[in-house]
Amino acid sequence: MSDIENLSGHTHMCALIANPIRHTKAVGMHNASFAHQGIDSVYLCFEVENEQLPALVQTFKTIGGVDGYNVSMPNKMEICQYLDELTDAARLMGAVNTVEHRDGKAIGHNTDGAGFMRNIKEHGFECVGKRMVMTGAGGAGSAIMVQAALDGMAAVDVFNIKDDAFYAAQEKAALVSEETGCRVTIHDLDDRETFGACCQQADILVNSTRVGMKPLDDQCLFPEEFIKPGIFVCDVPYNPIKTKLLKMAEAKGCVAIDGIGMMLWQGAIAEKIWYGFDMDMDYVRGLVEQHLDL
Ligand code: NAD
Repeated sequence: MSDIENLSGHTHMCALIANPIRHTKAVGMHNASFAHQGIDSVYLCFEVENEQLPALVQTFKTIGGVDGYNVSMPNKMEICQYLDELTDAARLMGAVNTVEHRDGKAIGHNTDGAGFMRNIKEHGFECVGKRMVMTGAGGAGSAIMVQAALDGMAAVDVFNIKDDAFYAAQEKAALVSEETGCRVTIHDLDDRETFGACCQQADILVNSTRVGMKPLDDQCLFPEEFIKPGIFVCDVPYNPIKTKLLKMAEAKGCVAIDGIGMMLWQGAIAEKIWYGFDMDMDYVRGLVEQHLDL
């Protein structure tokens, strides 16, 4: 954030809308980054009900001084219908986490999947033609599945328990496969034979469920024997930073990638969309780790 004495009538604003919202770490991350880059803008939170979205989208777009905003639950899906344009990723995910104001339009992006993909690239993973196996097809899992397909992965096999997320993801997977040419398949997590066979073919394993996060931090959905030595293994939850899955992966000589990087990169891509600068990743990661209370 601009130092308080530097705030003025020229200071702009970005925001996060969600409900509930008080737990978010995004405020500290973006305000620290804006101050570090000398951007005269503040990042604030607003608790918003879905019924308030049409008025909010219109107001934020037209009053001036609001350069963009992030969107979290329960507003991510509902907001799509009120925006002027959606990127391919946001349309295929059916969810927006970042809104950009450009040329009088409110444009919906989804940087969650892009943040994940950028983070694995930074760790040396080139995704074109590769095979991913993932547990979890909820919000984060869908975003990753869509972006992996858009970025050129050959196959994404997602294993989920047979809950509502399973059936919603099946519909999404069919559309994504058709539009991208990537083979995206949703499997029952209880089908251990297929799960094991897919893991044997995989270049990268990803967990995008809350299993591994406190209080489930003694659990892992990938049996140890399914983890091939030397491949890439990622966890999306980041509390604790080093989950049981990542410890098992490291013991097998895999490249183990934690969920903090995805969180930082989705924010960095949003800042690039709003202001065109590259977030100082090392600086912000240091601050976030110091203040996360993990
Ligand atoms: P969600 O509720 O939308 O989806 C959760 C998924 O996990 C669903 O597919 C559900 O079927 C599955 N699941 C839940 N409990 C399970 C269990 N016990 N066994 C097997 N599968 C189970 O949640 P989400 O928004 O996708 O978030 C998932 C995790 O990712 C959370 O821990 C969240 O904190 C984390 N997350 C991290 C980032 C990041 O930037 N690193 C971003 C979003 C979410």
